[in-house]
Amino acid sequence: MFLGHYAVALAAKKAAPQTSLATLFVAVQLVDQLWPILLLVGLEQASIEPGITVVTPLNFIHYPYSHSLIAFVIYSAVFATIYFSVTNYKRGAAMVALAVFSHWILDVLTHRPDMPIGFGDTKIGLGMWNSLEATVAVEAVMFICGIVMYTVTTKSRNWKA
Ligand SMILES: [Zn+2]
Repeated sequence: MFLGHYAVALAAKKAAPQTSLATLFVAVQLVDQLWPILLLVGLEQASIEPGITVVTPLNFIHYPYSHSLIAFVIYSAVFATIYFSVTNYKRGAAMVALAVFSHWILDVLTHRPDMPIGFGDTKIGLGMWNSLEATVAVEAVMFICGIVMYTVTTKSRNWKA
């Protein structure tokens, strides 16, 4: 999923208006920022196999450090704790934790069964990426809903910001 992650951040802004949108954007994409680094250092593996899904040719072979359920629980807790220690904003910390964790739920929806639970062989995925129509429809609806929620929630301070 791509736009759907950002939709969650836009919607989360409604629940925690004092949390910056930039923080929420980083939260929803935290593991996808970590994943290329883990690939480069060889801790995780992926290959390109055209046709493995309709939407992406990426075959996610081994990525428990960035994309397992256990890793997400840890990243959510750590990122929320850091956020709370800096801001002292409880609601924001809760939304930051949910924003980080939402990535796993949305990736389970979109990926084929390659999303690890832990560091073993148990993997799940509902495979929405096997349908281009479903992927485009879900991403578009989520993104539009996120934009609507964000614009209803926020007020610009002036004509520039
Ligand atoms: Zn991901």
